[in-house]
Amino acid sequence: MSLKFASVQGRSQFVIGSSADFRVVDVERSSKGTLPSDVMSCYSVWQSLRAHAATLAPTDGVACSLEQLDCPVPRPRQLFAVGLNYKKHAEEMGSPIPTTPLMFAKFQSSINTPSGDVQLVGTTCDYESELVIVIGAGGTNISQADAWQHIAGITAGQDISDRTLQYSGIPPQFSLGKSRTGFTPMGPWVADMHDNASRDNLRLTCSINGQIRQDTKTNDMIFDIPEIVSYLSGICQLFPGDAIFTGTTSGVGHGHKPPIYLQRGDIIETTLEGVGIIRNRCV
Ligand code: ZN
Repeated sequence: MSLKFASVQGRSQFVIGSSADFRVVDVERSSKGTLPSDVMSCYSVWQSLRAHAATLAPTDGVACSLEQLDCPVPRPRQLFAVGLNYKKHAEEMGSPIPTTPLMFAKFQSSINTPSGDVQLVGTTCDYESELVIVIGAGGTNISQADAWQHIAGITAGQDISDRTLQYSGIPPQFSLGKSRTGFTPMGPWVADMHDNASRDNLRLTCSINGQIRQDTKTNDMIFDIPEIVSYLSGICQLFPGDAIFTGTTSGVGHGHKPPIYLQRGDIIETTLEGVGIIRNRCV
């Protein structure tokens, strides 16, 4: 089986199946204690995890549901995000097309589970569906050609944004406007992409109450995954379990005329091909 990695009650899990129907296998017990139960520690031994996942059978494990999953990346040492990384989104926001990656930070305290409620603040909270890179072997000055070898896998994320806070000053500041409590759901699991030929061109969608609002292929990114990892690692050392949001496409609520912001009771579904679905309710 190719490796999919999740967390249940803070313990590391192999995932067998897809979002529609999946089972989990406890990593530490299945490996007879040779692999860690601690989720974040697993990113340092990703190659061993991958080797063990290959020995699992389709019938292994116990049935599980989205609601039982914790965030698969609960404590990244660094949580980066790329702003305006899709041309159509830069245009809808009235922003120039970046010529170098526009980076900001999301803070760890904003992390949410793949089915967690999102507590809205004010009346201008917005959705942004994103592909999230999770680092395996870290490093510095990683070349674009080597970048995928430093990536554990990818997961789906929501970069929930309080637009009023984001645009409250000149120039706008992104980090706080995107770091309110619960504003960073990720999951349902981290999918290893080392043998996935379409890993640079995956469909990514966001629906609100079943209506598709965002729909793109990830090869529409201005700076692609190897470029982002190479660029960042030339500035900051990357560590196992670091996570990088890679930007959103057009169709966010703020880009509509008039804007359509999130309302209490809305169900946000973020779907990333090759990974799965996360579902978050606004409260
Ligand atoms: Zn974003």
